Amino acid sequence: MSSTPAEDFQEKVKSLLVRNSNVLDILTKCQISGSKICRSTVRSATGCGCIQINGEKNQNPLENPGSGISGTLCQECLGVIQNEIGENLFYIASLCNALGLSMAQIMQHEIKNVETLGKYSLR
Ligand SMILES: [Zn+2]
Repeated sequence: MSSTPAEDFQEKVKSLLVRNSNVLDILTKCQISGSKICRSTVRSATGCGCIQINGEKNQNPLENPGSGISGTLCQECLGVIQNEIGENLFYIASLCNALGLSMAQIMQHEIKNVETLGKYSLR
């Protein structure tokens, strides 16, 4: 039976997590790595300038669901953000391992949720 990328990743993470294996460490690492994603995305606009971020209220998000981003990430910012998202996924996988949860099952469940609710999930 073949495994999914999420299953492969979760299994690999299980074999690598040593220093921060306590769930308290994992939870704080999830939060820190999530904050680093936010920071590097903002720095792409305010530091590098390769993207611009429009913070104005979207008056009609159901009809016009824009990201507020214009421009394209440069290779340096792209690499930084990808690494930080990867680090966050590492700790999310670690949390799933600590709690006995399957990332693949969670993703499949979430796909079903978004397919059922569509735009009206209001996320
Ligand atoms: Zn950049």
